Amino acid sequence: MPEPIVLIAGGGIGGLSAALTLHQIGVRVRVFESVRELRPLGVGINLQPNAVRELNDLGISNADLDRVGVPAREWALVGLNGNDIYSEPRGLEAGYHWPQYAVHRGQFHMLLAEKLTERAGKDVLRLGHRVTGYRNNSDGSVTAYVEDREGRIVEEHGTLLLGADGIHSAIRAQMHPGQPPINWGGAIMWRGTTQARPIRTGSSFVGLGTHKHRMVIYPISHPDPETGLATINWIAEVTMDPAEGWQGTGWFREVAIEDFVHHFEGWTYDWLDVPALLRGAEVAYENPMIDRDPIPTWRDGGVALMGDAAHAMYPTGSNGASQAIVDARVLGAKMLDHGVTPAALAAYDDELCAPVSEVVLRNRGAGPFGLLNMVDERCGGEFDDIDAVIPADERATFMRRYQAAAGFAMERLNNAAPTVPQGARVNLAASA
Ligand SMILES: Cc1cc2nc3c(=O)[nH]c(=O)nc-3n(C[C@H](O)[C@H](O)[C@H](O)COP(=O)(O)OP(=O)(O)OC[C@H]3O[C@@H](n4cnc5c(N)ncnc54)[C@H](O)[C@@H]3O)c2cc1C
Repeated sequence: MPEPIVLIAGGGIGGLSAALTLHQIGVRVRVFESVRELRPLGVGINLQPNAVRELNDLGISNADLDRVGVPAREWALVGLNGNDIYSEPRGLEAGYHWPQYAVHRGQFHMLLAEKLTERAGKDVLRLGHRVTGYRNNSDGSVTAYVEDREGRIVEEHGTLLLGADGIHSAIRAQMHPGQPPINWGGAIMWRGTTQARPIRTGSSFVGLGTHKHRMVIYPISHPDPETGLATINWIAEVTMDPAEGWQGTGWFREVAIEDFVHHFEGWTYDWLDVPALLRGAEVAYENPMIDRDPIPTWRDGGVALMGDAAHAMYPTGSNGASQAIVDARVLGAKMLDHGVTPAALAAYDDELCAPVSEVVLRNRGAGPFGLLNMVDERCGGEFDDIDAVIPADERATFMRRYQAAAGFAMERLNNAAPTVPQGARVNLAASA
């Protein structure tokens, strides 16, 4: 019997985390990534403590993460008048055993690629190879159809196939041909980074404004020791009537700052000048806030979806990348239990599909930013004393419920056994 091999469609954060995990437990992998060259694309993302724990267990240290980001210390919501609505410590400061990191998505992606090729060899990552579909074979193996660099479709045979090919997944489209189109709820985000001084704790995630008109601001680098300036990630967001339809061209279109800064003129406080922050960026990108309706299963025989292909979600909970990393680790754990078999994929699907689909819907309902909706409903967004609008207990209960649903409830995480025990190897004989 040939040694099992897992094919992975997509070399983003999810696909590379899966490849690193499977390599760690002794399973051969091959990743097909459609872009011809990896570049450090994107701006800020958050890695929640549950994902940092998995990265540490994968041998990616906090010193590695400090090269691409900065530990987050606080999460805060501030009303348009500049008054605090809610704030809580994050990561180690909150009592987690692992920090939360705010990182540059592209630099973090390159770090994962570097670790994978160092450990498993360059040949594991096939750039310029786009997976167009799959076939489950009668002997239980899978075949992936792959368009190579010359545009030829070649058949690649594997024991299992993971669809980690993002929100526009070809694997998902074949698995669920009747799935509805991408969902857009009316919010448009402009994203960018500016060199500026960090505010509040020095590493605070700040949501500022109202539920339909807001800024999200957080640093994604340590400050330069000489200038005190850090790379500040910002998202400027406005919600309009989705019935007008999305007229833009989709994900990450480059736009001029002057095209949208007028929405935020006058947002100046003694601790923050939003228009100056926006104008300080070299480039900005426009994205519609989009997700996909949950599907009843992420598995078809020897094929499973993971990451955004399984559960593309609004970024309101800052947990899309974290969940992709956790998916990879749960897949590894199930292969330790069941071998490199469809049964492992079934166990993964049984554990994650339903609860993570719930998080997708929760994030659509604003995720932790739902507090802003409550402020809006109760006082139209205008308040002097937040306790008179939403008492402190109610704010804390709301946040705890979100954290439990998203898998980063502190006590449960701190006390959980490692997802993939150190040194564990898959029983390859049981997989044949
Ligand atoms: C270029 C880019 C920039 C991003 N920037 C941000 C950001 O700034 N902030 C943020 O919150 N989120 C961003 N995201 C999304 C974020 O990375 C994901 O939500 C999250 O990390 C989950 O990762 P994923 O691996 O499931 O999906 P993705 O990160 O989308 O990765 C999917 C990968 O699959 C590849 N691919 C797609 N189709 C195929 C195919 N048919 N065959 C082979 N390969 C395929 C893609 O090129 C990509 O590398 C970005 C995604 C991309 C691709």
